[in-house]
Amino acid sequence: MNKIAKLPPEIAQKIAAGEVIERPVSVVKELVENALDAGAGEIGVELLAGGKTRILVRDNGSGMSRADAELCFERHATSKIATAEDLLAIATLGFRGEALASIAAVSRLTLKTSEGGAEAAAQIEREGDALLSEKSMAFPRGTSIEVRDLFFNLPARLKFLHGDASELSQIAKYLTNVALAYPRLRLTLSHGPRKILDCPPVDGLRERIYQLHGRALVDSLMLIDFTAEGSRLYGFASRPPAGRPDRVHQYFFVNSRPVRDKVLASALQQAYRGLLEKDRFPEAFLFLSVPPADVDVNVHPAKSEVRFLRSSSVFQLVLRAVDRAKARAGGIKPVAAARPEGADRTDEPVEYIPGEPGDFEGLPFRVEEGPPGAAAAPAADPSGRRVLGQFADAYIVAADPDGIMVIDQHNAHERVLYDRFAEIDRRRSWPVKMSLIPLLFEMSPAQAVSLEANRTALEESGFRAEPMGGRSFALREYPDVFQPEQALAAFLDLLDEIRESKAEEKKSRMLAMMACKAAIKAGQPLPREKMEYLMLELFRTSNPAVCPHGRPIVVRLSKAEIEKGLRRR
Ligand code: ADP
Ligand code: MG
Repeated sequence: MNKIAKLPPEIAQKIAAGEVIERPVSVVKELVENALDAGAGEIGVELLAGGKTRILVRDNGSGMSRADAELCFERHATSKIATAEDLLAIATLGFRGEALASIAAVSRLTLKTSEGGAEAAAQIEREGDALLSEKSMAFPRGTSIEVRDLFFNLPARLKFLHGDASELSQIAKYLTNVALAYPRLRLTLSHGPRKILDCPPVDGLRERIYQLHGRALVDSLMLIDFTAEGSRLYGFASRPPAGRPDRVHQYFFVNSRPVRDKVLASALQQAYRGLLEKDRFPEAFLFLSVPPADVDVNVHPAKSEVRFLRSSSVFQLVLRAVDRAKARAGGIKPVAAARPEGADRTDEPVEYIPGEPGDFEGLPFRVEEGPPGAAAAPAADPSGRRVLGQFADAYIVAADPDGIMVIDQHNAHERVLYDRFAEIDRRRSWPVKMSLIPLLFEMSPAQAVSLEANRTALEESGFRAEPMGGRSFALREYPDVFQPEQALAAFLDLLDEIRESKAEEKKSRMLAMMACKAAIKAGQPLPREKMEYLMLELFRTSNPAVCPHGRPIVVRLSKAEIEKGLRRR
């Protein structure tokens, strides 16, 4: 029996539209990007009901001819790329030729546009897929697009829209990015009678930050400007020890496009390591310019993610740029040096508080006091195992009467923590930390769904998140095995991880993930007593041979093999 039928075009189109247009902010983003691509010096956005009932975007850009105005609603109609090669070096914001088609498919839309010459302006009205009217009129050079009743014909989508305030705040946030990226642009946003943003053109980024955030913030920043290998990082970032308890003021742009990018975020974090007080994050308004061929913006239809061809050189660029800025600013000292004497003591039993990689005092090791001088002679445990040393900052080399073992320190620690976590979980006794400063983050729709579906399991493991409007959430509680920084990353990874696992696997995958996040990493030198402790604990676990992800932990070279290799037999 045949089961496959081709979708009627109007349904296929609505599905495709839903991928591009998710909510009012997506409409605003597409329309504003078109205006920018059209070279507008002035863009005005007017909203009603958070954009749900009306969005109007007008610009003074190039405008469209009548023929183009008719064509622009066709899917894959674009003036921006013509060949597949063009895809490799995209210089405009839009390029898929999908936005107007998608917006028109799910709203009531009026387009007015003029090239400002002798030809009369065109006005086109559409509703869903239907063309309602087309006429000529007088209109200054530029384009105005009004989108009413978004998703009027897609009730399922309508249900997922948030309250007016939440939709509005997403739009305001997006337009703040635009204002930062284009200081010379005149940009306004109003919501009904209320003016939300009113940014006259200014000369540069610094003035723009001042316009948006005020004097105090501007004064706490230092200039970043560094070029290497054809890429440039420009902007402003916190002058240590200034910083914020959250990442609200971290803005990244790649070739003027606002992005959320892990490479940039983690490079920034790394660049400020040791320079800010604990639980503080740098503020950053950073613009990366890379050759268009070095970056793939074609990753996601909404285009807020990019992929770098050489992410390690981007990472290095950020580190060096911040370093250079620090040197230029002068007088910046690591915060660690300012800690009181003795704050770094490592001899206290610290059980479940892992720190950042490379940071010993936080490791979840309990260092038992040995007899004086014990560290000098390698101690053997009752089975005769003893640590010989560490290799490549990643492997513990040990011996027992049967031969030599090479133990992967990360995998071993993962196994130790996994067993410990499993026990805690069985007893439902996770030590929970409350976050005093809310750890704010944004979830993808997929992550939000995963949170809904797995809330109980997550709460049992000590994670509690609260909605803060829109896609924003605050992590209120997390297991005491994490630092705040790690807790957020672990939580988001957990959501992705358990979304696709089967019910019976969920718990173990969660625990494995948490163990992995909390375990020491490769690349970390370990003192002998920590290696001994780790080895001891490893051989007490349920399975010292494989880590919770199924990777081996130990490689052995038996005495027999050694003797054979050396022809002693
Ligand atoms: P894309 O931006 O990917 O090309 P869109 O569907 O967003 O696709 O727009 C289709 C085309 O309509 C654009 O390529 C451009 O030629 C034209 N266009 C859209 N908006 C404007 C505008 N504000 N000013 C001038 N031309 C526009
Ligand atoms: Mg576009």
